[in-house]
Amino acid sequence: MSEVSDRQLVELALEGSQSAYIPYSNYRVGAALLTTSGEVFSGCNVENAGYSSTICAERTAMVKAVSEGHQQFSTMAVVSRGAGSPCGVCRQFMFEFSPAMKVILADLDGQVHMITTLVELLPHGFGPANLEENEA
Ligand SMILES: [Zn+2]
Repeated sequence: MSEVSDRQLVELALEGSQSAYIPYSNYRVGAALLTTSGEVFSGCNVENAGYSSTICAERTAMVKAVSEGHQQFSTMAVVSRGAGSPCGVCRQFMFEFSPAMKVILADLDGQVHMITTLVELLPHGFGPANLEENEA
């Protein structure tokens, strides 16, 4: 299995962004999620007339991966105008599975603006460990 580079992941996120359904905001987002086993799941934002039903590209990619049996991730690339960073809901959603994952933020020209980690984006995040029962 060949290693997927950051550059390839950004290109796959750009490809994913082409499917964005954005009639309301016209804010195109694409994501590409690399599993620790080397597979990539892409996603786009999907808006909805009921605005709060909208789902982001990052969560689209995560749900595609988890629904196919993957729960361990090494990198998420996200592309958008101005290389926006994941919203709070997505940070929380991503934290569930792989808090240490690398996050690459690039613009719609594929220019990388930031490489960080999820823990940097969501310090002291709430995760599965918080729900483990401790014996008193
Ligand atoms: Zn989001």
